[in-house]
Amino acid sequence: MTQTTTELESLLMQRSLTDTALLAAADAAEDFRILPDVTVIKVGGQSVIDRGRAAVFPLVDEIVQVRQQHKLLIGTGAGTRARHLYSIGAGLGLPAGVLSQLGSSVADQNAAMLGQLLAKHGISQVSGAGLSALPLFLQEVNAVVFSGMPPYKLWMRPSPDGVIPPYRTDAGCFLMAEQFGCKAMVFVKDENGLYTANPKTSKNATFIPKMSVDEMKAAGLHDSILEFPVLDLLQQARHVREVQVINGLVPGNLTRALAGEHVGTIITAS
Ligand code: ADP
Ligand code: MG
Repeated sequence: MTQTTTELESLLMQRSLTDTALLAAADAAEDFRILPDVTVIKVGGQSVIDRGRAAVFPLVDEIVQVRQQHKLLIGTGAGTRARHLYSIGAGLGLPAGVLSQLGSSVADQNAAMLGQLLAKHGISQVSGAGLSALPLFLQEVNAVVFSGMPPYKLWMRPSPDGVIPPYRTDAGCFLMAEQFGCKAMVFVKDENGLYTANPKTSKNATFIPKMSVDEMKAAGLHDSILEFPVLDLLQQARHVREVQVINGLVPGNLTRALAGEHVGTIITAS
């Protein structure tokens, strides 16, 4: 152990930080999962929260029940208000980094609302989900609510294709799951999962229960139910090698997915 540390240290002092031997040495340690018993769930903005009471209340009831058995990091999407902001901001010629900050404020609003609904059950909204008191909340009440937008803000890596920030709440929630080495990642949206085409606009779309990232790309579905950069994040992930997208408008789906059942579409890294 001391030997590898010394070796790594000397490589670090002498070589570029992207040197292959250096990267291999830096990668030699066994993987460590920070929160291995926790599942991250993302509650969709447009797909769930924007539907208001009819969609949110049953889901809140289900969350309150399931957190008896499961530890949950509950991230929020942004949705229609963010899209409205993006349209105004883009029209004004503002850059991705500014639009990213505007979108964050909407995910924050959704986390604030979900936090209020869960408050009487002892479930708190945390502002920086980076860690801080997270382990304590999880230990005590099994769940916390966080705002799903990754905090890149002005430093958002711009897309070559335009000013819409490419890393939004699907990416933010996935990265939480991956960085913390969580057990699973469940996206709660408003369709049963992935279809051969957008079921909202294509009547003939058929349901796909399971698909790999490469298969999605080959089928032209890389920009469909998940933000497309998530597919690459998933393929490169060490811990979270598959995600499930479920229909949160169907009562019981979340409970079943957390129990490990296949109720939506499972998207696999390989
Ligand atoms: P969120 O609210 O989590 O941001 P989105 O609204 O961005 O969720 O993504 C879910 C939506 O993706 C669905 O409501 C659906 O209309 C759309 N969609 C586009 N293409 C597909 C597809 N091939 N399969 C399933 N859903 C799709
Ligand atoms: Mg979305």
